[in-house]
Amino acid sequence: MKTILVQGAMDSEIEQLINMLSEHSEVKKAEHNGYFFYETKLNDVQIIVAKTEMGIMNATVSTMIASEKYQPSIVINQGTAGAHLRSLNVGDIIIGEEAVYINNMRSPAKKKGEGSNALEWHPGKSLSFLIKATDFLVEKASAIEFDSKVLCGRLGSGDVYSKEVDRIDLLHSQLGELCEDMESVAVYKCCQTLEIPFVGIRVISNNELTGNGDVEKQFEIAQTRLQSFIFKFLKQLVDTVIS
Ligand code: SAH
Repeated sequence: MKTILVQGAMDSEIEQLINMLSEHSEVKKAEHNGYFFYETKLNDVQIIVAKTEMGIMNATVSTMIASEKYQPSIVINQGTAGAHLRSLNVGDIIIGEEAVYINNMRSPAKKKGEGSNALEWHPGKSLSFLIKATDFLVEKASAIEFDSKVLCGRLGSGDVYSKEVDRIDLLHSQLGELCEDMESVAVYKCCQTLEIPFVGIRVISNNELTGNGDVEKQFEIAQTRLQSFIFKFLKQLVDTVIS
């Protein structure tokens, strides 16, 4: 049986998806090396929903464990993200044509007592920190009809939650990312290395450039919207995977 792996970092990023899937088939919870995986089926395709936990290291470890245990044919990394463009609103969905690692930084030299200023940092040169998603998955996700804004672009990921407007604007001008999350580029790196087709899909849950209201509520709205989108995507994908 073919397998699709869908990942989310937090319970709230996978709960609704698991509920929707459980209406089609039984869901079993499994633990491997301290990471959790929900095993189920959609038509004749095995669906594994992984809770990766937050951050680059967790996303890497969870993806490597899942690839060994389940040998997925497709990996979808999904979850929330902070906007790095003023025109993006909570609930907008971004299909990650590419992902870039935003912690690949060099600082200028400063002596003791001279402090630190992230606005003086610049990205390292290696292009291996920019990774392209698998074309057919980007195309399939883009073709889904959905009642909110869906666009394609570059995701940015690192172990940081940026809330400084000047820093966000600088990062965007240096690396071109539309949004910031903590996992997708790690998953892109694993899947590229293991030659597994992959795509990351993110929903805007906060925008530090334009200001936030009730952030908890925003995360909730964003997560609900994305999980409906992902379920729709999965339903369409299962036919592709079988053929
Ligand atoms: N309510 C959560 C917030 C987590 S934010 C809590 O209290 O723990 C970090 C997670 O959400 C990460 O998994 C990351 O991928 C995503 N995320 C959402 N907005 C982000 C932002 N602005 N910067 C970095 N990660 C963000």
